[in-house]
Amino acid sequence: MTDSGPVVFKFGGTSVGGGHRIRDSARLVAAAEATPVVVVSAMAGVTTELTRIAALPSGSSRTDALRTLLERHREAARLVSDEDVPGGPHSDRPALERRIEAVGEALARGLEDDGDPRIRTDALVARGEDLSAALMAAALRSLGVPAREVDARKVVRTDAGFGQAIPRDEVTVRLAWKHLFPLVSKGVVPVMQGFIGADDQGRTTTLGRGGSDFTAAIVGAALEARQVTIWTDVDGIYSADPNRIPGARIIQELGFEEAVELAYFGARVIHPAAAKHAVARGVSLRIRNSFNPEAPGTLIRSDRRETPGVAALAYKPGTALIRVRSRPHFMAYGFLSRVFQVLARHGVPVDLVATSHTSTAFTVDRGEELSLVEEALREVAEVKVVDGLGTVSAIGRGLLETPGVTGEIFRVLGSTPVHLISQASDTSLSFLVSEAEGPEVVRRLHETLVEGPSA
Ligand code: ADP
Ligand code: ASP
Ligand code: MG
Repeated sequence: MTDSGPVVFKFGGTSVGGGHRIRDSARLVAAAEATPVVVVSAMAGVTTELTRIAALPSGSSRTDALRTLLERHREAARLVSDEDVPGGPHSDRPALERRIEAVGEALARGLEDDGDPRIRTDALVARGEDLSAALMAAALRSLGVPAREVDARKVVRTDAGFGQAIPRDEVTVRLAWKHLFPLVSKGVVPVMQGFIGADDQGRTTTLGRGGSDFTAAIVGAALEARQVTIWTDVDGIYSADPNRIPGARIIQELGFEEAVELAYFGARVIHPAAAKHAVARGVSLRIRNSFNPEAPGTLIRSDRRETPGVAALAYKPGTALIRVRSRPHFMAYGFLSRVFQVLARHGVPVDLVATSHTSTAFTVDRGEELSLVEEALREVAEVKVVDGLGTVSAIGRGLLETPGVTGEIFRVLGSTPVHLISQASDTSLSFLVSEAEGPEVVRRLHETLVEGPSA
């Protein structure tokens, strides 16, 4: 991080959810002190819809769904390029409309492609970000802000892990300087798609759902940005999901480690890979509300907060627990290494682990394909899988040495069955409960640990 580097503004799906929203977000860019690099998500719901369309067989429902999706973008195009800026330059609306039609044709062609489905899906889904970037660039120009679209495929170089591609750091840094920096230094706003990149062969890849935050962090780190601002639909990071816990409080400043833990344990407001990437490279992040730009938001930076204790609670449903008990002839160390070799071979990421001399329990995302893993594990162990669980995490500072935190958690849990408890650092403590009880457990913990006895 430098004091003089550029800034990056990332707008999430709701912040570019329609013509008016794109316009409002463009105004935030116009009002920025320095020329930002702009990274946009697809309009809210578009990635999900494109993923659905990509899986539909050819026929009238696919054609209709595509038509509706394009119409939504045409409608936004009419609003963003309204020629209502008194005396200001106007965006080239016919060019924008031609662009939307061209993307529509590319989508229709892509749907007919019968090649590798993962490659095909990424190429199709990425069109959502192509469209929103074109709309944002047009909105900026119609406000009189010089803006140029920069294709993320030319900047974010990834491996060929379609659907969950991993950026290649060095080449991406070089490409970011080459394609973005010269524009910023001339006062031209580069507008780039989030979430997408390209592999060495130029094939479009995507970084995983919610990945536009990751793009912003990648670009921010590459350009040694002064700050990356994540513009979203809430006032910042709260002590719990504000859409689920009415008493949630805004957190003004959060330490690097806390932010990474919170992201990994389910606070959707920032993508885990983005938090980790920014933190590892010392880039400060600010989360702000594009619907309420007066609010200062949450600053994530290296300094830890002064006050120890629980800062936030996170909840991640969709967790599966795998319990493995070693066959008698395995020693503990040999057993653990065998178990993790199996997981590594199948590329299954593990979230939480607890282990004893003869047993190990760990959690994985329910979405993972587990049958082969189970089969391989059965060669060395007795295996039991428990599904339908949620991970509850308390995140904060000094959780190990803060008196009473664990006691309070267990008191609140009372007789609620807990399937695993894990605490690897003093920044987070996590445990598993059934999905049926998860939200209520979070609410009660929040009341006790965050809102306090006076609540
Ligand atoms: P965007 O489309 O802007 O990327 P997301 O939907 O990915 O937005 O993330 C914002 C959402 O994250 C909020 O609307 C909120 O419901 C959810 N969220 C979950 N946990 C938290 C938290 N601790 N603080 C703020 N928002 C949270
Ligand atoms: N549009 C992508 C998604 O919905 C990326 C993002 O919004 O961050 O997952
Ligand atoms: Mg998001």
